[in-house]
Amino acid sequence: MLTDLEIAQAAKMAPVAEIAKELGIDDDSLELYGKYKAKVALDSFGNKNGKLILVTAINPTPAGEGKSTTTIGLGDALHRLGKKTVIALREPSFGPVLGVKGGAAGGGYAQVVPMEDINLHFTGDFHAIEAANNCVAAVIDNHMFHGNELDIDPTRITWHRVIDMNDRALRNCVVGLGGHTNGVPREDHFDIVVASEIMAILCLAKDMDDLRARLDRTVVAYNRDRMPVTIKDLKITGALMMILKDALKPNLVQTLEHTPTFIHGGPFANIAHGCNSVIATKKALSYGDYVVTEAGFGADLGAEKFLNIKCRQAGLKPNAVVIVATIRALKMHGGVKKEDLGLENVEALKLGFGNLEKHIENIKKFGLPYVVAINRFTSDTEAELKALEDWSIANGHPVSLSEVWAKGGEGAIDLAKKVIDQIENGKNEFKFIYDEEDTIKTKIVKICTEIYGASNVEFTQEAKNQIARLEKLGFAKQLVCMAKTQYSLTDNPKLLGRPEDFTVTIRGVTPSIGAGFIVALSGDIMRMPGLPKEPAAERMDIVNDKIVGLF
Ligand code: ADP
Repeated sequence: MLTDLEIAQAAKMAPVAEIAKELGIDDDSLELYGKYKAKVALDSFGNKNGKLILVTAINPTPAGEGKSTTTIGLGDALHRLGKKTVIALREPSFGPVLGVKGGAAGGGYAQVVPMEDINLHFTGDFHAIEAANNCVAAVIDNHMFHGNELDIDPTRITWHRVIDMNDRALRNCVVGLGGHTNGVPREDHFDIVVASEIMAILCLAKDMDDLRARLDRTVVAYNRDRMPVTIKDLKITGALMMILKDALKPNLVQTLEHTPTFIHGGPFANIAHGCNSVIATKKALSYGDYVVTEAGFGADLGAEKFLNIKCRQAGLKPNAVVIVATIRALKMHGGVKKEDLGLENVEALKLGFGNLEKHIENIKKFGLPYVVAINRFTSDTEAELKALEDWSIANGHPVSLSEVWAKGGEGAIDLAKKVIDQIENGKNEFKFIYDEEDTIKTKIVKICTEIYGASNVEFTQEAKNQIARLEKLGFAKQLVCMAKTQYSLTDNPKLLGRPEDFTVTIRGVTPSIGAGFIVALSGDIMRMPGLPKEPAAERMDIVNDKIVGLF
Protein backbone atom coordinates (compact mmCIF):
# COMPACT_ATOMS: atom_id res chain seq x y z
CA MET A 1 0.00 0.00 0.00
CA LEU A 2 1.34 3.42 -0.95
CA THR A 3 1.81 6.09 1.70
CA ASP A 4 0.00 9.44 1.47
CA LEU A 5 3.31 10.99 0.47
CA GLU A 6 3.96 8.44 -2.30
CA ILE A 7 0.45 8.94 -3.71
CA ALA A 8 0.91 12.72 -3.64
CA GLN A 9 4.37 12.54 -5.21
CA ALA A 10 3.02 10.41 -8.07
CA ALA A 11 0.21 12.91 -8.83
CA LYS A 12 0.02 14.57 -12.23
CA MET A 13 -0.92 18.11 -11.29
CA ALA A 14 -2.49 20.58 -13.68
CA PRO A 15 -0.85 24.01 -13.78
CA VAL A 16 -2.66 26.12 -11.21
CA ALA A 17 -3.30 28.73 -13.90
CA GLU A 18 -5.57 26.15 -15.60
CA ILE A 19 -7.38 25.47 -12.32
CA ALA A 20 -7.91 29.21 -11.94
CA LYS A 21 -9.15 29.54 -15.51
CA GLU A 22 -11.74 26.81 -14.86
CA LEU A 23 -13.10 29.01 -12.07
CA GLY A 24 -13.05 32.11 -14.25
CA ILE A 25 -10.18 33.80 -12.40
CA ASP A 26 -8.26 35.90 -14.89
CA ASP A 27 -4.46 35.92 -15.16
CA ASP A 28 -4.17 39.42 -13.72
CA SER A 29 -5.82 38.27 -10.51
CA LEU A 30 -3.42 35.38 -10.06
CA GLU A 31 -0.06 35.65 -8.31
CA LEU A 32 1.87 32.48 -9.07
CA TYR A 33 4.07 30.90 -6.42
CA GLY A 34 5.72 28.45 -8.82
CA LYS A 35 3.60 26.36 -11.16
CA TYR A 36 1.16 24.76 -8.75
CA LYS A 37 0.39 27.33 -6.07
CA ALA A 38 -1.07 30.79 -6.48
CA LYS A 39 -2.54 33.60 -4.48
CA VAL A 40 -5.75 35.17 -5.73
CA ALA A 41 -6.22 38.94 -5.65
CA LEU A 42 -8.50 40.25 -2.91
CA ASP A 43 -10.79 42.06 -5.35
CA SER A 44 -11.33 39.04 -7.60
CA PHE A 45 -14.78 37.46 -7.25
CA GLY A 46 -17.01 35.28 -9.41
CA ASN A 47 -20.73 35.76 -9.82
CA LYS A 48 -22.02 32.57 -8.19
CA ASN A 49 -23.86 32.20 -4.92
CA GLY A 50 -22.69 28.72 -3.97
CA LYS A 51 -24.12 26.27 -1.45
CA LEU A 52 -21.99 25.93 1.66
CA ILE A 53 -21.33 22.43 3.06
CA LEU A 54 -19.58 22.13 6.42
CA VAL A 55 -17.69 18.94 7.27
CA THR A 56 -17.35 18.22 10.99
CA ALA A 57 -16.93 15.10 13.13
CA ILE A 58 -17.38 13.21 16.36
CA ASN A 59 -14.75 13.61 19.09
CA PRO A 60 -11.61 12.23 17.49
CA THR A 61 -8.84 9.81 18.37
CA PRO A 62 -5.39 11.45 18.48
CA ALA A 63 -4.85 10.43 14.82
CA GLY A 64 -7.82 12.44 13.50
CA GLU A 65 -10.97 10.96 12.01
CA GLY A 66 -10.60 12.06 8.42
CA LYS A 67 -12.46 15.37 8.16
CA SER A 68 -9.95 16.86 5.73
CA THR A 69 -9.87 13.60 3.80
CA THR A 70 -13.68 13.51 3.64
CA THR A 71 -13.90 17.21 2.72
CA ILE A 72 -11.54 16.69 -0.19
CA GLY A 73 -13.17 13.42 -1.30
CA LEU A 74 -16.65 14.94 -1.14
CA GLY A 75 -15.44 17.92 -3.16
CA ASP A 76 -14.01 15.51 -5.73
CA ALA A 77 -17.27 13.54 -5.81
CA LEU A 78 -19.33 16.68 -6.47
CA HIS A 79 -16.81 17.62 -9.15
CA ARG A 80 -17.23 14.17 -10.72
CA LEU A 81 -20.99 14.69 -10.71
CA GLY A 82 -20.39 17.71 -12.94
CA LYS A 83 -21.02 20.30 -10.23
CA LYS A 84 -18.86 23.37 -10.17
CA THR A 85 -17.18 22.72 -6.83
CA VAL A 86 -14.62 24.56 -4.75
CA ILE A 87 -13.05 23.26 -1.54
CA ALA A 88 -11.93 25.56 1.28
CA LEU A 89 -9.49 24.23 3.89
CA ARG A 90 -7.08 25.42 6.55
CA GLU A 91 -3.33 25.54 6.14
CA PRO A 92 -1.49 22.91 8.18
CA SER A 93 0.46 24.02 11.23
CA PHE A 94 4.13 23.08 11.13
CA GLY A 95 4.54 22.09 14.80
CA PRO A 96 2.10 19.16 14.67
CA VAL A 97 3.52 18.02 11.32
CA LEU A 98 6.77 17.36 13.18
CA GLY A 99 4.87 15.95 16.15
CA VAL A 100 2.31 13.18 15.99
CA LYS A 101 -0.76 13.86 13.92
CA GLY A 102 0.40 13.82 10.35
CA GLY A 103 -0.56 16.28 7.65
CA ALA A 104 -3.65 18.31 7.13
CA ALA A 105 -3.75 17.83 3.40
CA GLY A 106 -6.10 14.83 3.38
CA GLY A 107 -5.06 11.22 2.97
CA GLY A 108 -4.94 8.28 0.57
CA TYR A 109 -6.59 9.21 -2.74
CA ALA A 110 -8.32 12.26 -1.29
CA GLN A 111 -5.51 14.77 -0.95
CA VAL A 112 -4.61 18.29 -1.93
CA VAL A 113 -1.36 18.87 -3.79
CA PRO A 114 1.47 19.86 -3.85
CA MET A 115 1.16 18.08 -0.50
CA GLU A 116 4.76 18.58 0.65
CA ASP A 117 4.67 22.34 0.07
CA ILE A 118 1.25 22.68 1.70
CA ASN A 119 2.50 20.88 4.82
CA LEU A 120 5.78 22.79 4.96
CA HIS A 121 6.23 26.49 4.24
CA PHE A 122 3.53 26.78 1.54
CA THR A 123 3.26 30.46 0.55
CA GLY A 124 4.70 31.80 3.79
CA ASP A 125 1.43 32.92 5.39
CA PHE A 126 2.25 31.45 8.80
CA HIS A 127 5.68 33.06 8.75
CA ALA A 128 4.05 36.41 8.06
CA ILE A 129 1.56 35.88 10.90
CA GLU A 130 4.39 34.89 13.23
CA ALA A 131 6.35 38.01 12.21
CA ALA A 132 3.36 40.32 12.67
CA ASN A 133 2.61 38.83 16.10
CA ASN A 134 6.21 39.06 17.27
CA CYS A 135 6.52 42.59 15.94
CA VAL A 136 3.81 43.56 18.44
CA ALA A 137 5.69 41.79 21.25
CA ALA A 138 9.00 43.43 20.33
CA VAL A 139 7.38 46.87 20.17
CA ILE A 140 5.73 46.41 23.59
CA ASP A 141 9.07 45.54 25.21
CA ASN A 142 10.84 48.28 23.29
CA HIS A 143 8.22 50.80 24.38
CA MET A 144 8.72 49.95 28.03
CA PHE A 145 12.50 50.13 27.61
CA HIS A 146 12.32 53.62 26.07
CA GLY A 147 10.42 55.29 28.91
CA ASN A 148 7.00 53.57 28.76
CA GLU A 149 4.96 56.60 27.74
CA LEU A 150 1.79 54.46 27.64
CA ASP A 151 2.51 53.37 31.22
CA ILE A 152 2.16 49.67 30.27
CA ASP A 153 2.04 47.47 33.37
CA PRO A 154 4.68 44.75 32.73
CA THR A 155 2.63 42.32 34.82
CA ARG A 156 -0.49 42.91 32.72
CA ILE A 157 0.76 42.28 29.19
CA THR A 158 -1.72 39.88 27.60
CA TRP A 159 0.12 39.60 24.28
CA HIS A 160 2.22 36.43 23.91
CA ARG A 161 5.06 35.73 21.52
CA VAL A 162 4.40 32.87 19.05
CA ILE A 163 6.36 30.26 17.13
CA ASP A 164 5.10 27.59 14.71
CA MET A 165 6.61 24.72 16.65
CA ASN A 166 5.41 22.36 19.37
CA ASP A 167 7.81 23.61 22.02
CA ARG A 168 6.68 23.11 25.60
CA ALA A 169 9.85 24.67 27.00
CA LEU A 170 8.66 28.07 25.79
CA ARG A 171 5.26 28.01 27.49
CA ASN A 172 6.59 30.11 30.35
CA CYS A 173 9.77 32.12 30.16
CA VAL A 174 11.43 35.32 31.29
CA VAL A 175 12.49 37.96 28.77
CA GLY A 176 14.57 41.09 29.17
CA LEU A 177 17.27 39.50 31.34
CA GLY A 178 20.87 40.72 31.23
CA GLY A 179 20.82 44.21 32.63
CA HIS A 180 19.55 47.62 31.62
CA THR A 181 20.39 47.59 27.89
CA ASN A 182 18.46 44.36 27.36
CA GLY A 183 15.07 45.69 28.36
CA VAL A 184 12.62 45.32 31.22
CA PRO A 185 12.68 41.81 32.72
CA ARG A 186 9.23 40.23 32.80
CA GLU A 187 7.48 36.91 32.61
CA ASP A 188 6.48 36.02 29.04
CA HIS A 189 4.79 33.13 27.24
CA PHE A 190 4.94 31.59 23.80
CA ASP A 191 1.87 30.19 22.04
CA ILE A 192 1.81 28.23 18.80
CA VAL A 193 1.12 30.47 15.75
CA VAL A 194 -2.29 28.89 15.13
CA ALA A 195 -3.46 30.05 18.57
CA SER A 196 -2.45 33.68 17.97
CA GLU A 197 -4.96 36.48 17.75
CA ILE A 198 -3.33 37.64 14.52
CA MET A 199 -4.23 34.26 13.01
CA ALA A 200 -7.84 34.65 14.16
CA ILE A 201 -7.96 38.22 12.89
CA LEU A 202 -6.57 37.27 9.48
CA CYS A 203 -9.12 34.46 9.22
CA LEU A 204 -12.10 36.60 10.23
CA ALA A 205 -11.20 39.79 8.35
CA LYS A 206 -13.46 40.53 5.39
CA ASP A 207 -10.98 42.74 3.55
CA MET A 208 -8.02 45.08 4.07
CA ASP A 209 -10.15 47.76 5.76
CA ASP A 210 -11.62 45.25 8.17
CA LEU A 211 -8.14 43.86 8.86
CA ARG A 212 -6.96 47.38 9.72
CA ALA A 213 -9.93 48.06 12.00
CA ARG A 214 -9.45 44.74 13.80
CA LEU A 215 -5.72 45.30 14.31
CA ASP A 216 -6.34 48.83 15.58
CA ARG A 217 -8.69 47.68 18.33
CA THR A 218 -6.68 44.63 19.42
CA VAL A 219 -5.87 44.80 23.14
CA VAL A 220 -2.28 43.80 23.93
CA ALA A 221 -1.80 44.95 27.54
CA TYR A 222 -3.19 47.13 30.33
CA ASN A 223 -1.66 50.27 31.75
CA ARG A 224 -1.19 50.92 35.45
CA ASP A 225 -4.75 52.31 35.63
CA ARG A 226 -5.84 48.93 34.20
CA MET A 227 -7.09 50.49 30.99
CA PRO A 228 -6.49 48.63 27.69
CA VAL A 229 -3.50 49.35 25.49
CA THR A 230 -4.15 48.56 21.83
CA ILE A 231 -2.10 48.01 18.68
CA LYS A 232 -3.30 51.44 17.58
CA ASP A 233 -1.74 52.94 20.71
CA LEU A 234 1.54 51.30 19.73
CA LYS A 235 1.26 52.98 16.28
CA ILE A 236 2.15 49.84 14.36
CA THR A 237 -1.11 48.92 12.60
CA GLY A 238 0.40 50.15 9.33
CA ALA A 239 3.50 48.02 9.76
CA LEU A 240 1.37 44.97 10.49
CA MET A 241 -0.78 45.64 7.41
CA MET A 242 2.42 45.68 5.40
CA ILE A 243 3.66 42.42 6.92
CA LEU A 244 0.28 40.73 6.34
CA LYS A 245 -0.68 42.12 2.93
CA ASP A 246 0.15 38.94 0.98
CA ALA A 247 -0.89 36.55 3.74
CA LEU A 248 -4.43 37.97 3.52
CA LYS A 249 -4.81 36.71 -0.05
CA PRO A 250 -6.12 33.14 -0.26
CA ASN A 251 -4.00 30.37 -1.77
CA LEU A 252 -5.32 28.31 -4.66
CA VAL A 253 -4.22 24.70 -5.21
CA GLN A 254 -5.94 21.52 -6.43
CA THR A 255 -6.90 18.04 -5.28
CA LEU A 256 -5.45 14.86 -6.81
CA GLU A 257 -8.53 15.03 -9.09
CA HIS A 258 -7.94 18.70 -9.99
CA THR A 259 -10.82 20.11 -7.94
CA PRO A 260 -9.99 23.75 -7.17
CA THR A 261 -9.12 24.25 -3.52
CA PHE A 262 -8.52 27.37 -1.45
CA ILE A 263 -6.25 26.74 1.52
CA HIS A 264 -6.03 29.75 3.74
CA GLY A 265 -5.41 30.42 7.42
CA GLY A 266 -5.27 27.75 10.07
CA PRO A 267 -6.45 28.39 13.61
CA PHE A 268 -6.74 25.21 15.71
CA ALA A 269 -10.25 24.43 16.93
CA ASN A 270 -9.35 23.51 20.52
CA ILE A 271 -7.45 26.70 21.34
CA ALA A 272 -8.76 29.05 18.63
CA HIS A 273 -11.80 29.27 16.34
CA GLY A 274 -10.84 26.44 14.00
CA CYS A 275 -11.75 27.29 10.40
CA ASN A 276 -10.19 28.69 7.25
CA SER A 277 -10.43 32.36 6.35
CA VAL A 278 -13.68 34.17 5.68
CA ILE A 279 -12.07 35.61 2.56
CA ALA A 280 -11.35 32.14 1.16
CA THR A 281 -14.85 30.86 1.96
CA LYS A 282 -16.50 33.90 0.38
CA LYS A 283 -14.34 33.68 -2.70
CA ALA A 284 -15.08 29.97 -3.00
CA LEU A 285 -18.83 30.69 -2.75
CA SER A 286 -18.50 33.25 -5.53
CA TYR A 287 -16.77 30.81 -7.88
CA GLY A 288 -18.52 27.52 -7.12
CA ASP A 289 -22.04 26.17 -7.06
CA TYR A 290 -20.95 23.96 -4.17
CA VAL A 291 -18.33 24.77 -1.55
CA VAL A 292 -17.09 22.11 0.84
CA THR A 293 -15.26 23.34 3.92
CA GLU A 294 -14.22 21.87 7.25
CA ALA A 295 -13.96 23.00 10.84
CA GLY A 296 -11.45 21.43 13.18
CA PHE A 297 -11.87 18.55 15.64
CA GLY A 298 -15.37 17.51 16.76
CA ALA A 299 -18.60 19.40 16.22
CA ASP A 300 -18.42 20.54 19.88
CA LEU A 301 -15.40 22.69 18.95
CA GLY A 302 -14.89 23.45 15.25
CA ALA A 303 -18.51 23.38 14.12
CA GLU A 304 -19.77 25.31 17.16
CA LYS A 305 -17.26 28.09 16.44
CA PHE A 306 -17.74 27.95 12.68
CA LEU A 307 -21.46 28.46 13.19
CA ASN A 308 -21.55 30.79 16.21
CA ILE A 309 -18.51 32.91 15.36
CA LYS A 310 -17.53 32.70 11.69
CA CYS A 311 -20.99 32.47 10.14
CA ARG A 312 -22.31 35.22 12.43
CA GLN A 313 -19.43 37.61 11.77
CA ALA A 314 -19.29 36.92 8.03
CA GLY A 315 -23.04 36.63 7.43
CA LEU A 316 -22.73 33.08 6.09
CA LYS A 317 -25.55 30.55 6.07
CA PRO A 318 -24.50 26.90 5.68
CA ASN A 319 -26.71 24.68 3.53
CA ALA A 320 -25.77 21.30 4.99
CA VAL A 321 -23.41 19.61 7.44
CA VAL A 322 -21.52 16.33 7.06
CA ILE A 323 -20.69 14.62 10.34
CA VAL A 324 -17.72 12.27 9.93
CA ALA A 325 -17.68 9.21 12.15
CA THR A 326 -15.24 6.33 12.21
CA ILE A 327 -15.68 2.86 13.59
CA ARG A 328 -12.38 3.11 15.45
CA ALA A 329 -13.25 6.36 17.26
CA LEU A 330 -16.73 5.11 18.15
CA LYS A 331 -15.17 1.94 19.58
CA MET A 332 -12.85 4.12 21.62
CA HIS A 333 -15.88 6.02 22.90
CA GLY A 334 -17.33 2.61 23.78
CA GLY A 335 -14.35 1.81 26.00
CA VAL A 336 -11.89 0.02 23.68
CA LYS A 337 -8.19 0.75 24.29
CA LYS A 338 -6.13 2.37 21.52
CA GLU A 339 -4.06 -0.78 20.94
CA ASP A 340 -7.22 -2.91 20.44
CA LEU A 341 -8.99 -0.62 17.96
CA GLY A 342 -8.09 -2.91 15.05
CA LEU A 343 -10.12 -5.81 16.51
CA GLU A 344 -13.82 -6.28 15.76
CA ASN A 345 -16.00 -5.28 18.71
CA VAL A 346 -19.61 -4.55 17.79
CA GLU A 347 -20.76 -4.29 21.41
CA ALA A 348 -18.23 -1.59 22.27
CA LEU A 349 -19.05 0.16 19.00
CA LYS A 350 -22.72 0.35 19.99
CA LEU A 351 -21.73 1.76 23.39
CA GLY A 352 -19.88 4.52 21.53
CA PHE A 353 -22.88 5.62 19.42
CA GLY A 354 -23.83 8.10 22.15
CA ASN A 355 -20.98 10.37 21.12
CA LEU A 356 -22.20 10.54 17.52
CA GLU A 357 -25.77 10.98 18.73
CA LYS A 358 -24.83 14.07 20.77
CA HIS A 359 -23.05 15.69 17.82
CA ILE A 360 -26.07 15.01 15.60
CA GLU A 361 -28.34 16.57 18.22
CA ASN A 362 -26.09 19.62 18.29
CA ILE A 363 -26.22 20.13 14.53
CA LYS A 364 -30.01 19.83 14.82
CA LYS A 365 -29.95 22.53 17.50
CA PHE A 366 -28.35 24.82 14.93
CA GLY A 367 -31.30 23.94 12.67
CA LEU A 368 -29.21 22.46 9.88
CA PRO A 369 -29.73 19.40 7.69
CA TYR A 370 -26.94 16.80 7.89
CA VAL A 371 -25.58 13.51 6.61
CA VAL A 372 -23.46 11.10 8.66
CA ALA A 373 -20.39 10.01 6.69
CA ILE A 374 -18.73 6.80 7.82
CA ASN A 375 -15.08 7.21 6.90
CA ARG A 376 -14.12 3.63 6.10
CA PHE A 377 -10.83 2.23 7.39
CA THR A 378 -9.42 -1.12 6.20
CA SER A 379 -9.71 -2.47 9.74
CA ASP A 380 -13.51 -1.92 9.83
CA THR A 381 -15.44 -5.18 9.64
CA GLU A 382 -18.70 -5.71 7.74
CA ALA A 383 -20.52 -6.42 11.01
CA GLU A 384 -19.31 -3.13 12.49
CA LEU A 385 -20.21 -1.08 9.42
CA LYS A 386 -23.64 -2.70 9.31
CA ALA A 387 -24.25 -1.98 13.01
CA LEU A 388 -23.53 1.72 12.48
CA GLU A 389 -25.61 1.94 9.31
CA ASP A 390 -28.50 0.10 10.95
CA TRP A 391 -28.39 2.40 13.99
CA SER A 392 -28.33 5.50 11.78
CA ILE A 393 -31.23 4.35 9.62
CA ALA A 394 -33.26 3.19 12.65
CA ASN A 395 -32.87 6.66 14.18
CA GLY A 396 -33.70 8.50 10.98
CA HIS A 397 -30.21 9.84 10.30
CA PRO A 398 -29.17 10.10 6.63
CA VAL A 399 -25.96 8.05 6.39
CA SER A 400 -23.39 7.17 3.74
CA LEU A 401 -20.31 4.97 3.65
CA SER A 402 -17.41 7.10 2.45
CA GLU A 403 -14.47 5.36 0.81
CA VAL A 404 -12.59 8.41 -0.42
CA TRP A 405 -9.32 7.44 1.25
CA ALA A 406 -9.17 4.26 -0.87
CA LYS A 407 -11.01 5.46 -4.00
CA GLY A 408 -10.88 9.27 -4.20
CA GLY A 409 -14.03 11.09 -5.35
CA GLU A 410 -15.62 7.87 -6.63
CA GLY A 411 -15.78 6.74 -3.00
CA ALA A 412 -18.17 9.55 -2.06
CA ILE A 413 -20.65 9.65 -4.95
CA ASP A 414 -23.41 8.36 -2.69
CA LEU A 415 -22.45 10.85 0.03
CA ALA A 416 -22.45 13.71 -2.49
CA LYS A 417 -25.93 12.74 -3.74
CA LYS A 418 -27.26 12.54 -0.18
CA VAL A 419 -25.75 15.93 0.66
CA ILE A 420 -27.35 17.48 -2.43
CA ASP A 421 -30.64 15.91 -1.42
CA GLN A 422 -30.37 17.45 2.05
CA ILE A 423 -29.52 20.83 0.57
CA GLU A 424 -32.50 20.68 -1.76
CA ASN A 425 -35.06 18.94 0.44
CA GLY A 426 -33.82 19.08 4.04
CA LYS A 427 -35.17 21.52 6.58
CA ASN A 428 -32.83 24.46 7.10
CA GLU A 429 -33.70 26.75 9.98
CA PHE A 430 -30.22 27.94 10.80
CA LYS A 431 -29.89 29.70 14.14
CA PHE A 432 -27.18 30.45 16.69
CA ILE A 433 -26.89 28.80 20.09
CA TYR A 434 -26.37 32.06 21.98
CA ASP A 435 -27.25 35.65 21.46
CA GLU A 436 -24.74 38.44 21.02
CA GLU A 437 -26.67 40.34 23.69
CA ASP A 438 -26.21 37.55 26.28
CA THR A 439 -23.68 38.26 29.03
CA ILE A 440 -20.26 36.61 28.69
CA LYS A 441 -21.19 34.14 31.42
CA THR A 442 -24.50 33.25 29.77
CA LYS A 443 -22.80 32.65 26.44
CA ILE A 444 -20.29 30.30 28.08
CA VAL A 445 -23.02 28.50 30.03
CA LYS A 446 -25.14 28.04 26.90
CA ILE A 447 -22.23 26.47 24.99
CA CYS A 448 -21.34 24.19 27.91
CA THR A 449 -24.87 23.03 28.65
CA GLU A 450 -26.42 23.00 25.17
CA ILE A 451 -23.43 21.76 23.15
CA TYR A 452 -21.29 19.79 25.60
CA GLY A 453 -24.23 18.54 27.65
CA ALA A 454 -22.84 19.81 30.98
CA SER A 455 -25.18 19.98 33.95
CA ASN A 456 -23.14 22.69 35.65
CA VAL A 457 -20.51 25.33 34.84
CA GLU A 458 -18.10 26.56 37.47
CA PHE A 459 -16.09 29.76 37.15
CA THR A 460 -12.94 30.11 39.23
CA GLN A 461 -12.64 33.32 41.21
CA GLU A 462 -10.00 34.49 38.72
CA ALA A 463 -12.35 33.87 35.79
CA LYS A 464 -15.16 35.73 37.58
CA ASN A 465 -12.87 38.71 38.21
CA GLN A 466 -11.68 38.73 34.61
CA ILE A 467 -15.22 38.61 33.25
CA ALA A 468 -16.28 41.46 35.54
CA ARG A 469 -13.36 43.57 34.30
CA LEU A 470 -14.08 42.82 30.65
CA GLU A 471 -17.71 43.80 31.11
CA LYS A 472 -16.66 47.01 32.81
CA LEU A 473 -14.42 47.80 29.86
CA GLY A 474 -17.39 47.44 27.50
CA PHE A 475 -16.51 44.03 26.03
CA ALA A 476 -19.69 42.23 27.11
CA LYS A 477 -21.01 41.89 23.54
CA GLN A 478 -18.00 39.91 22.34
CA LEU A 479 -18.62 36.36 21.13
CA VAL A 480 -17.06 33.44 23.01
CA CYS A 481 -14.32 31.14 21.76
CA MET A 482 -13.93 28.12 24.01
CA ALA A 483 -10.52 26.55 24.61
CA LYS A 484 -11.28 22.93 25.45
CA THR A 485 -9.90 19.44 24.91
CA GLN A 486 -10.89 17.93 21.57
CA TYR A 487 -11.07 14.37 22.87
CA SER A 488 -14.14 14.66 25.05
CA LEU A 489 -17.43 16.51 25.12
CA THR A 490 -16.32 17.57 28.61
CA ASP A 491 -13.23 19.50 29.73
CA ASN A 492 -11.60 16.21 30.79
CA PRO A 493 -9.92 14.39 27.86
CA LYS A 494 -10.39 11.03 29.59
CA LEU A 495 -14.20 11.15 29.70
CA LEU A 496 -15.21 9.59 26.39
CA GLY A 497 -18.54 8.61 24.86
CA ARG A 498 -21.49 10.79 25.87
CA PRO A 499 -20.80 11.85 29.45
CA GLU A 500 -23.71 13.13 31.50
CA ASP A 501 -24.07 15.04 34.74
CA PHE A 502 -20.68 16.73 34.58
CA THR A 503 -19.30 20.16 35.45
CA VAL A 504 -17.16 22.28 33.14
CA THR A 505 -14.68 24.54 34.94
CA ILE A 506 -13.75 27.88 33.40
CA ARG A 507 -10.41 28.91 34.82
CA GLY A 508 -9.86 32.14 32.93
CA VAL A 509 -10.97 34.37 30.07
CA THR A 510 -8.81 36.49 27.80
CA PRO A 511 -10.00 39.12 25.35
CA SER A 512 -9.31 38.80 21.61
CA ILE A 513 -11.01 42.06 20.73
CA GLY A 514 -9.52 42.22 17.24
CA ALA A 515 -10.93 38.78 16.51
CA GLY A 516 -14.21 39.77 18.13
CA PHE A 517 -14.34 37.17 20.87
CA ILE A 518 -13.40 36.34 24.44
CA VAL A 519 -11.39 33.13 24.80
CA ALA A 520 -12.68 31.02 27.69
CA LEU A 521 -10.14 28.53 29.02
CA SER A 522 -11.47 25.23 30.33
CA GLY A 523 -9.67 22.23 31.82
CA ASP A 524 -5.92 22.34 31.41
CA ILE A 525 -5.85 23.00 27.67
CA MET A 526 -2.56 24.64 26.58
CA ARG A 527 -2.03 27.19 23.83
CA MET A 528 1.40 25.70 23.16
CA PRO A 529 1.43 21.96 22.46
CA GLY A 530 4.41 19.70 23.19
CA LEU A 531 6.07 16.97 21.12
CA PRO A 532 5.58 13.25 21.87
CA LYS A 533 8.42 10.98 23.03
CA GLU A 534 9.20 9.97 19.46
CA PRO A 535 8.31 12.96 17.28
CA ALA A 536 7.37 12.31 13.65
CA ALA A 537 10.40 14.48 12.82
CA GLU A 538 12.62 11.47 13.60
CA ARG A 539 11.24 9.66 10.53
CA MET A 540 11.70 12.50 8.03
CA ASP A 541 14.53 12.91 5.55
CA ILE A 542 15.52 13.74 2.00
CA VAL A 543 16.65 10.69 0.01
CA ASN A 544 17.69 11.05 -3.64
CA ASP A 545 16.25 14.57 -3.66
CA LYS A 546 12.86 13.34 -2.47
CA ILE A 547 11.20 13.90 0.89
CA VAL A 548 10.53 10.70 2.83
CA GLY A 549 8.71 10.10 6.10
CA LEU A 550 6.31 13.03 5.81
CA PHE A 551 3.31 10.72 6.50
P1 ADP B 1 -8.92 15.25 10.44
O1 ADP B 1 -9.12 16.30 9.40
O2 ADP B 1 -10.20 14.74 11.00
O3 ADP B 1 -7.94 15.62 11.48
P2 ADP B 1 -7.48 13.91 8.35
O4 ADP B 1 -8.37 13.89 7.19
O5 ADP B 1 -6.38 14.92 8.39
O6 ADP B 1 -8.29 13.98 9.70
O7 ADP B 1 -6.87 12.46 8.50
C1 ADP B 1 -5.97 12.15 9.55
C2 ADP B 1 -5.04 11.02 9.10
O8 ADP B 1 -5.81 9.84 8.94
C3 ADP B 1 -4.37 11.30 7.76
O9 ADP B 1 -3.02 10.87 7.85
C4 ADP B 1 -5.12 10.43 6.77
O10 ADP B 1 -4.28 9.94 5.76
C5 ADP B 1 -5.62 9.28 7.64
N1 ADP B 1 -6.90 8.76 7.17
C6 ADP B 1 -8.04 9.46 6.98
N2 ADP B 1 -9.02 8.65 6.56
C7 ADP B 1 -8.49 7.42 6.46
C8 ADP B 1 -9.00 6.14 6.09
N3 ADP B 1 -10.27 6.00 5.73
N4 ADP B 1 -8.16 5.08 6.12
C9 ADP B 1 -6.87 5.23 6.52
N5 ADP B 1 -6.33 6.40 6.88
C10 ADP B 1 -7.12 7.49 6.87
